[in-house]
Amino acid sequence: MALPPLTLALSKGRIFEETLPLLAAAGVGVPENPESSRKLILPTDSDALRIIIVRASDVPTYVQYGAADFGIAGKDVLHEHMAQHPGGLYQPIDLNIARCRLCVAAPEGFDYQAAVRQGSRLRIATKYVRAAREHFAAKGVHVDIIKLYGSMELAPLVGLADAIVDLVSSGGTLRANRLVEVEEIRQISSRLIVNQAALKMKGERLQPFLDAFGRASSAMA
Ligand code: ATP
Ligand code: MG
Repeated sequence: MALPPLTLALSKGRIFEETLPLLAAAGVGVPENPESSRKLILPTDSDALRIIIVRASDVPTYVQYGAADFGIAGKDVLHEHMAQHPGGLYQPIDLNIARCRLCVAAPEGFDYQAAVRQGSRLRIATKYVRAAREHFAAKGVHVDIIKLYGSMELAPLVGLADAIVDLVSSGGTLRANRLVEVEEIRQISSRLIVNQAALKMKGERLQPFLDAFGRASSAMA
């Protein structure tokens, strides 16, 4: 009897797109694209693997509970997730995909460094509450964190916050909204995450994917 396929959790957009070459290296093609298909379970051309499409920040949850055997998630998402749900996830490889950086950005006219020197209390809008809290605590800067779920760039423009903590790659979105990067917090890329029980029970079937992903990502780095 054929075994059920392994389940890989991905988010659509850049993580899906940048995972396709890794899957190709493992000999797996994906005939449908989540942007055009409405399916949340995408078959592949291999009976050994299917893909589920979930929100980027939900990927660790699906893998942790074993609804997906493995997945790919940004370090930004993993850092926030692990604070609330430690354990259950094995993070074997940095795949070096979806590269960007987490930074503090402020409006062009706001003298962030002066505000920090003066010990001002800052209002920071972000989706990355844990990373922001840790960053400002380490600097000894007092902040009020305002949690947002998206479009962080808007917050300083309408007086909701003095600055934001957000992901930046080209800086185009910041420029379009007259914001400047004032501090880099850390470099971000995506990691492979594996359910620990799945690794024990299905290790023989998972290992070829881990090996192929590892080889392909170091070849691309
Ligand atoms: P959602 O759209 O569900 O709210 P999201 O906006 O975080 O989630 P994406 O924009 O697809 O989803 O980002 C997925 C991951 O890709 C992020 O967690 C991050 O690791 C990485 N990422 C985000 N923005 C960029 C970027 N500008 N350049 C490169 N990688 C990025
Ligand atoms: Mg996004």
